[in-house]
Amino acid sequence: MRTVRQHLGWKLFISYLVIIVVGVVSLIVAAEFHAPTALDRHLAQMATIVGENMGGMMADLSENFRRAVNEVLLVAAMAAFITAVLVSTFVTRRIVTPIQEMKRASQRIASGRYDERVQVTSDDELGELARTFNQMAHQLAQIEERRRQLIGDVAHELRTPLSSIRSVMEGLVDGVLPAEPATFVNVQRELSRLQRLVQDLEELSRAEAGQVSLKTAPTDPAAFIQPAVARLRPQFEDKSVNLHMEIGATLPRVNADAERMTQVMLNLLGNALQYTPAGGQVTVRASADTSQVFIAVQDTGTGLTAEHLNHIFERFYRVDKSRSRAAGGSGIGLTISKHLVEAHGGHLTATSRGLNKGSTFTVTLPVS
Ligand code: ADP
Repeated sequence: MRTVRQHLGWKLFISYLVIIVVGVVSLIVAAEFHAPTALDRHLAQMATIVGENMGGMMADLSENFRRAVNEVLLVAAMAAFITAVLVSTFVTRRIVTPIQEMKRASQRIASGRYDERVQVTSDDELGELARTFNQMAHQLAQIEERRRQLIGDVAHELRTPLSSIRSVMEGLVDGVLPAEPATFVNVQRELSRLQRLVQDLEELSRAEAGQVSLKTAPTDPAAFIQPAVARLRPQFEDKSVNLHMEIGATLPRVNADAERMTQVMLNLLGNALQYTPAGGQVTVRASADTSQVFIAVQDTGTGLTAEHLNHIFERFYRVDKSRSRAAGGSGIGLTISKHLVEAHGGHLTATSRGLNKGSTFTVTLPVS
């Protein structure tokens, strides 16, 4: 059994009742103690005017007046009581019903029905609460959808290397494949891919949870651009892609974790190299205005359509899945980079003039 304490409707009703009781009691006190004295005073004044032989009549008048006041008070108290019942029923319906509806909806959401919404019936605080409730339900639905998608994507990513390892192993067991280094290199390559995927997933989950610990310090942007360029230059040379740098001589410092920002530059330069054919060019440009530093990685490669540009920062999104996977890409690199840049208070954006017209990825960081 729910007690009165657990019912908002009862509490409202009782609060009206308390007001009525206090009102009636103060009226009775006033009528009982003050009204007779005042009446007696006025009657005494009348007596001096009318004459001495009015004593009996005055006592009678006084008694009847008291009765009349009590009668009127009783009627008024009953009217107030009925009003309290009506008003509290109305208010309860207006306040308690939407709250109960929200309670039921939240229970259904808790049991996994994320499409649950409540009706917004007013513009007051309750309407605001209902709107916020619906927003929360919408966000929960999106989170759930992303979670489901993530599990599906991870399973899909694991399946390819695992089935590859499995078929090599079966070939070895059946004697179809020779037990020689070339066979094992295949297994090793798939294992490295799995390992990289797991590392990327760990990094991604940390980045998405906002748990990346940054060791920031005022840093010259060249301190994280140069090491990434130096590390990848041999691969650019191997593929005959020209790597060009245009870095302003006096760039302002940015508040950055140099190691993390090097990781971002490695991802952007690695992608530029991967999606630019031999003979192409990749340019790293760094410039600044009074409040921001811009680091752009521009390539003359495959480019991106407007549709792809909308999605490339989403996890596991790859324009050409088989090509990216063959090159060891997991489709998470840009997602992690975006999170890392945003953790520095900056932005990572991409532009392209279309397919085969190259693309430009720009990191914007606030000046420290
Ligand atoms: P991946 O590991 O597959 O490279 P990323 O998250 O780094 O994953 O990139 C996501 C996708 O964005 C890539 O698969 C590719 O299709 C596209 N992409 C990234 N950089 C470029 C680029 N410079 N030119 C063209 N497409 C790119």
